[in-house]
Amino acid sequence: MKTKKLRNILIRYFAGFTIILLLIIYLFQIVLLNDFYKLIRKNEVKHEVTKVINQDFINTSNNDICIMIIENNEIKSSGLRCSGPLSLEKDMISIYHNVLSNNVVELNEKSVKGNKGDQIFIYGQKVSINKAVIASTHLMPIDATKHTLTIQLFWISTFSIVLVMLLVLFLNRKIIKPLLVVKEDADYLAQGNYEIEKKELGYVEVNELSSTLSYASKELSKIDQLQMELISNITHDLKTPLTLISGYAQLMIDIPNENNRANAEIILNEANRLTSLVTDILEISKFRTSKQILELEEYDLYELAKEVISSVAELVRKDGFEIILTGNHFILNVDKYKIKQAIYNLVINGIHYTGKDKKVLVHVDGEKKEISVTDTGLGINEEDLQYIFQRYYREQKAHKRAILSTGIGLSIVKSIMHLHNGDAYVKTSGNGSTFYLKFK
Ligand code: ADP
Repeated sequence: MKTKKLRNILIRYFAGFTIILLLIIYLFQIVLLNDFYKLIRKNEVKHEVTKVINQDFINTSNNDICIMIIENNEIKSSGLRCSGPLSLEKDMISIYHNVLSNNVVELNEKSVKGNKGDQIFIYGQKVSINKAVIASTHLMPIDATKHTLTIQLFWISTFSIVLVMLLVLFLNRKIIKPLLVVKEDADYLAQGNYEIEKKELGYVEVNELSSTLSYASKELSKIDQLQMELISNITHDLKTPLTLISGYAQLMIDIPNENNRANAEIILNEANRLTSLVTDILEISKFRTSKQILELEEYDLYELAKEVISSVAELVRKDGFEIILTGNHFILNVDKYKIKQAIYNLVINGIHYTGKDKKVLVHVDGEKKEISVTDTGLGINEEDLQYIFQRYYREQKAHKRAILSTGIGLSIVKSIMHLHNGDAYVKTSGNGSTFYLKFK
């Protein structure tokens, strides 16, 4: 569909509305004026006749209506207005006979004595066998009135059109201008400028739009900054193991004595470090680029936690870490691999950040339908807390060489839980943190 400018749409609607309104006025006030006038006059006459019949008495001073009660060929009484062209005495007697034989008579007569073009409307109703009530009135030509109204309508139309133009101009200023300001801000944001301030622009909806845009710009700026940090962090994380791998490999080639198991293990560890970094990055890009489909099946979550722990515990036992599993069995429809990955990410973080006792506690709570992972580390700063589930966020001081950190793990956990209609959150204090996977 071809899109039109809001100003043009306003002009069209307002102009259309005004034209229709003027046409209606033209139709009723000018084209149908004569018919309406006649109809109303005739109804007035009929109404007066009915009134006289009911009261058997002429008590009307109604404009220009002559009413007569005729009985036995004689005019018994006649109203105040029965003079001039309306007092057609002889005619009335003949009309009286006509009424007596037809019950009701309606006649449109040319006025003989009145102005040229005058019409007289005569209406008679039989009351009894020899009695009738007959009324007559002038139907004036209304050409002069029509002419006046036509001139009036011309001026009404001219004023209306000017008024519509002014209204459109006013609305243009009130509605469209503020929208253009927001559009300019959006264009500015699209060019990568994030300093968009919330503006007061005259009405609530556009103010809300401006405030949403300003909020979006701040969030985008944060993500942009985090992305930049990620690139520098990843570059650092990639460079260090690569330097070590090539350094040790060179050493083993150059010096035959150095060609030993310990050095090969260093190379292997560094290669593993690289692999897990790349896996994390691939994983998060999968969450970003494709719609994830869950392979849901009933699983015992306690068993899933147990599987994760036994695979990790083996690796970290030699470094003195202990992972303790408590809780009870509960069965839920989940994607096994994704939930295992979420537990894995939390357990690995627990190992990285736990305190000197090197303990990580995993608790499966069937009642509350949640899995928690607790460490005994230093906890998480208040100001970092709101960001840790965001992609690429990692606490600056946590970025030590000893900890392979991409700031992706928790964002993957959150995405997995949202896919399961659940949530992931954390409670933290100076004595450690507990991360929760909460199911519905
Ligand atoms: P990564 O651990 O790779 O940096 P995550 O998304 O898993 O990425 O974590 C983001 C940040 O959250 C970490 O850099 C760290 O600052 C903080 N964090 C995560 N888990 C813990 C924890 N158990 N204790 C303290 N801080 C944590």
